[in-house]
Amino acid sequence: MPELPEVECVVRGLRTRITGKTLQRVTVRLPRIVLGSPLDLAENLPGCTFLAIRRRGKLIIMDLSQGLSLLVHLRMTGQLLLSDSNEPLLKHTHLIFQLANGNHQLRYRDQRQFGWLQIVETAQLETHPQVAQLGPEPLEISPEEFVRHIGARHRQIKPLLLDQTALAGLGNIYTDEALYRARIHPLKRASDLSTIKLKGLHQAIQDVLREAIDCSGSTIDHFRDSQGRPGEFQRFHQIYGRQGEPCDRCGARIVKIRVGNWGTHICPRCQRASGV
Ligand SMILES: [Zn+2]
Repeated sequence: MPELPEVECVVRGLRTRITGKTLQRVTVRLPRIVLGSPLDLAENLPGCTFLAIRRRGKLIIMDLSQGLSLLVHLRMTGQLLLSDSNEPLLKHTHLIFQLANGNHQLRYRDQRQFGWLQIVETAQLETHPQVAQLGPEPLEISPEEFVRHIGARHRQIKPLLLDQTALAGLGNIYTDEALYRARIHPLKRASDLSTIKLKGLHQAIQDVLREAIDCSGSTIDHFRDSQGRPGEFQRFHQIYGRQGEPCDRCGARIVKIRVGNWGTHICPRCQRASGV
């Protein structure tokens, strides 16, 4: 599932390539991928120009002329790919945005079809449920705010970090990586963590997200950027997907446990359930 770094890489790629471009035609091949009325998309978007492409949590926001914004959530296997119009359509291509004055298309692909697109009025964006409920951005929140905001919660730290209303953008990979770096067991309660531990976690989250963005994100199976390229950061995972291998720090064997529905990777020696 694309998390903050992967979505950021898609956004940056699209920003440089389609900002200022105008939409000529929208073809909806799978109507149920569109929230609200698919007709709205096909009828209202042609003639609109992309003004800005940005990210909020894992959500892609494309601001268009005429006061409209297009929201895209990639969820599990969604991809936004820029293609030449004459390139054959890949399987699972559900939406095609034909750009004017050129031979390019932005295509939405989604094998498992959990992703969605929706057109909204830009002025209503901040009150849109998918936007309004999102917690702070992990790359923007200060250490002090993070300690106050996260340290006040009584929930277990991993489910809390995955809760998009608490912090927007983390998923399973980067939560595991950050908790490992900060030497925190995923089942510890946030409110039981010391200020030093919380500040260490804030730093670990920011470090791992920035490093992942610099490596074009992680590709475990489906993720591709807007030019169809996989990410590289999976090669630098220190804990995620490394069960059975030795911990780089202490040599103990990395184990995979379950936390809620999430397969969770920890070093049992570096991340102890007891103590702080
Ligand atoms: Zn270890």
